Amino acid sequence: MFSGAIKKIQGPEQEGALVDIYDNKEEFLASGHYQKGSIAVRVLGFDRVEADQSFWDQKVAHAWKLREMLGLVGSPETNVFRWINAEGDGLPGLIVDYYAGNVVLQMHSIGMHRQLKAIASALLKCAGSSVHTLYNKSESTLPDKPGIDGKSGFLMGKQERGEVMEYGHRFHVNWLSGQKTGFFIDQRENRKLVGEYSRGRKVLNMFGYTGGFSIYALGGGAALVHSVDSSGKAIDLCREHAEMNFPGDPRHEAMAVDAFGFFNDMKETYDLMVLDPPAFAKHQNVLSHALQGYKRLNQRAFEHIAPGGILFTFSCSQAVSRENFRKSVFVAAANAKRNVRILHQLSQPADHPVSLYHPEGEYLKGLVLEVE
Ligand code: SAH
Repeated sequence: MFSGAIKKIQGPEQEGALVDIYDNKEEFLASGHYQKGSIAVRVLGFDRVEADQSFWDQKVAHAWKLREMLGLVGSPETNVFRWINAEGDGLPGLIVDYYAGNVVLQMHSIGMHRQLKAIASALLKCAGSSVHTLYNKSESTLPDKPGIDGKSGFLMGKQERGEVMEYGHRFHVNWLSGQKTGFFIDQRENRKLVGEYSRGRKVLNMFGYTGGFSIYALGGGAALVHSVDSSGKAIDLCREHAEMNFPGDPRHEAMAVDAFGFFNDMKETYDLMVLDPPAFAKHQNVLSHALQGYKRLNQRAFEHIAPGGILFTFSCSQAVSRENFRKSVFVAAANAKRNVRILHQLSQPADHPVSLYHPEGEYLKGLVLEVE
């Protein structure tokens, strides 16, 4: 809730405190965590909220129930999913990811950080028998505030890495040293689709991280798969994943190089490309710069992809709208003089739900394109 929409705040105006807010007719609007800044309150409920232990228990259990309904809890082929997706689960500022019984919490607000104990207790009450690690990884995501000790650390167990399974594919995840909470869970369904398009194709997985898309492409019968990422550590893990899932398979090669450099020196042609770059725009004020970035990158792909090729192209920037992303891709295709059709419009999976009242939560946008 932006400060401009609030007439009156009842409760202590301290970072992370629970407050009630009222509109200019003095009518109750919502309860939530107070914070200093243009977003003044992170809403926990449109009815009055007490935020006692039973509130956290109920929210956490509600989120778990959705993952049960989606078939993710207890699935024989997938044991990695997002358990709590911030606003999408009515808990702004809180991310919880589940890695085969290892649970990683990431707090983005002081209000949530203050409730760490209550949230951990709710998580254990809900799924205690299947949880053996609780790790709080909030050091880099909490806003910098004096007097707050936001250090990362274990709340239960000591395991730093583990093996997970996604649609039967095996991956090593290190929640301490990996990016975000360790793995890009949000691409699960899109990886599956890449697998379905890969048969007989030469595949380039650009910004491949630890090779999620590559493993599905190999599984889907690709003729060859090249994985590219600028991080040497990610590429080491990518090779390990290829070896774990397809031992001794000569179809896979992984390269630790810069994406733009790779395009400049490219000799091979590919007939399926995946472009999954990191967020180019973290804030609205760098939007035009980010859109230029998407245009440049996609143009390189259009210039190089074989006739009849399939391009999976993504943006995970919250500040870039679906329409703006599509326009950048449109300009890129026009500059490269390629005729292009949209086959699929992709998003994030259902364990990353979006509140209708918080459309900004829909951050992942993807297009599957056929390039003539
Ligand atoms: N597709 C991946 C997630 C990609 S995250 C998956 O499914 O798991 C974005 C990746 O881009 C990161 O691994 C980061 O190391 C890499 N990256 C960032 N800048 C890059 C650049 N200039 N060239 C190549 N890779 C880059």
